[in-house]
Amino acid sequence: MTSPIWHPFTQHGLGHDIPEITSAKGALLYGKDGREIIDAISSWWVTTHGHCHPPIIKAIQNQAAKLDQLIFAGWTHDPAEKLAASLIDMTPSNLEHVFYSDSGSTSVEVALKMALGYWSNQGINRDRIIVMEHSYHGDTIGTMSIGERGVFNQAYNALMFDVDSIPFPAIGQEQESLNQLEQFCASGQTAAFIVEPLLLGAGGMLVYSPETLCAMHEICTRHDVIFIADEVMTGWGRTGTLLACEQANIEPDILCLSKGITGGSIPLAVTLSNTAIFDAHYSTDRSKAFFHSSSYTANPIACAAANANIALWQDSATLNNIQKLCAKQKAQLQKININKTVQNARQIGTITAFELDDSQGSYLSSLGPKLLEFFVQHNVLLRPLGNTIYVMPPYCISDEQLNRVYEVIQMAINKFTGSEANIA
Ligand SMILES: *Cc1c(COP(=O)(O)O)cnc(C)c1O
Repeated sequence: MTSPIWHPFTQHGLGHDIPEITSAKGALLYGKDGREIIDAISSWWVTTHGHCHPPIIKAIQNQAAKLDQLIFAGWTHDPAEKLAASLIDMTPSNLEHVFYSDSGSTSVEVALKMALGYWSNQGINRDRIIVMEHSYHGDTIGTMSIGERGVFNQAYNALMFDVDSIPFPAIGQEQESLNQLEQFCASGQTAAFIVEPLLLGAGGMLVYSPETLCAMHEICTRHDVIFIADEVMTGWGRTGTLLACEQANIEPDILCLSKGITGGSIPLAVTLSNTAIFDAHYSTDRSKAFFHSSSYTANPIACAAANANIALWQDSATLNNIQKLCAKQKAQLQKININKTVQNARQIGTITAFELDDSQGSYLSSLGPKLLEFFVQHNVLLRPLGNTIYVMPPYCISDEQLNRVYEVIQMAINKFTGSEANIA
């Protein structure tokens, strides 16, 4: 039986098997065929404490029985009020307003609209957006426009808007990147700069320094350019701290959060803003209101799940788990880095990444899908970005499970970059 489902980022024409999962617990997925699969990428970067984490599931069940959904334009409910107050408490002190939505892409769209509205409502003509090379901010037309262009979005090029792009601040090239930012900002045309703090995820798990992030923030502040931090992926402990921005000690003007906000259990997103941006929309003039909403804005069940996640963050065990995982990841990376074909081994917080040597040219350009298949066959969910392998597990992953993940990676290295690969 073929399924009518059209899967995301999936070339159905290749005829790959699509495994069915029936349940999950902690770092494990249970397949319909009886297999146990280790989720080493947190189900695409969302699951933080583990799958079906009891306090989160309980909060969802309780809230679902009480208030399932409510129009949020002009109405409110306790889970949303409670969550907003907690978010204001936990995030940089300049962020004082919380706007709800339902996906990372939408939270970024909201951020862009807030930034443009800020200037437009004051009658100031600033509408350029500065972005960083290799960035990813989502898959809607607006977020594709501010992300890296390539095979993923070339068909939609005609609809995408023009942006100013600064080079990625690779080690030794930070100054070039900062100079370009300074130059764009000085034009006086820029509404906002948007960036993934410290780590570019989908762009290839590229890491840059807190000093550079801090310097970029300083340039934006000096030129009155709104600084938008897209922490959709880096938030909720992934980089070792609640937010990556904390490591650079900066206060973004706008902050986007999603993925781990509900512990990865149910969709929700927020865009936080400073008072100046809120105030630019605050008026008795209805035409200056912020015109954005989704049907499920601030869904009470999702807010309850997020409140349960935040309760976990109030418990020191959560940060302990994260710190322990950081240390374990460091040790695993050192071991795997001994392989000659492992390059650019890097770690930020709970995440490790490295490239497999692509000196074998065209053979290795097709390495990504082969690796993916190999990992799935060995019951490990890893999804390499081209020849970049990264490990981003839920914080609850056991030593045994993490060992197995790296054991399977080592097997893949032996198979695809060892002697067998040379013969092939
Ligand atoms: C995943 C991601 C998004 C998009 O979030 P969705 O919930 O998939 O729409 C935006 N920004 C970053 C940095 C992301 O990693």
